[in-house]
This record gives sequence, structure tokens and C-alpha cells, in this order.
Amino acid sequence: MAKILIVDDSITSRKVLRGILEQAGYEVVGEAQDGEQGTKLYSELKPDVVTLDITMPVLDGIGALQKIKEIDADAKVIMVTAAGQKSKMVEAVKYGASEFVAKPFDEEQLLIIVEKVLS
Ligand SMILES: [Mg+2]
Repeated sequence: MAKILIVDDSITSRKVLRGILEQAGYEVVGEAQDGEQGTKLYSELKPDVVTLDITMPVLDGIGALQKIKEIDADAKVIMVTAAGQKSKMVEAVKYGASEFVAKPFDEEQLLIIVEKVLS
């Protein structure tokens, strides 16, 4: 099953995401709480998919997206968005984000998106 890295500064979000993904059979290989740590873990773990929260301390999701794409141009990145982040989403598309999921997570929607990104 595909390996997924979760990058989010919210413990609750990480827990919810991990729960949904593991229940669907995915392997959550790591968790990071900011973009800097997430980028480091990405190069160490080489996951099949990474979820990147947009708003994070140290290095935000957009910054992490850019760094991860520099490491691996084929990286499959799902951006996690909150309400009112349209301009950030436009930026993320520019830097090569594969897909978006909105908080609060809709389990069915999330799994459809992960499957789509992996296919
Ligand atoms: Mg956040």
C-alpha cells in the first residue's frame, strides 16, 4: 500500500488524517509539524504522497511545496486548505500541487483525492 507523509502543525488534524488513511489501508510513514521538518522527512522517507497544510510555523505549506518539488519534481503533493485561502491555492497550483483537500476533512472526499493522486 502507498506510503504517506503528513505535514500539519495541528495535532488534531494529523490524528484525524492518520486515522482516515490507516483505516483505508495506507501506511502513514511519518508526521511533521512544520514545513522545514516536513521537507527533511520527505527526503528521508520518500513517501508516495505528502499532505501539506498551508498554514504552518517556520516554513508554511507553500514554502515546503517549493522545497519538496526541488528535491523531487515528481512529488505528489496534496495541499490541506482552510476557508479563505484561494490566493494560496492559486500559488500552490503554480508550484505544482497535485490536489487540494479542505478542512474539516470529509473522509470519502479525502480518499477519492488520495486515490486520484496515486493513479
Ligand atoms: Mg495549520
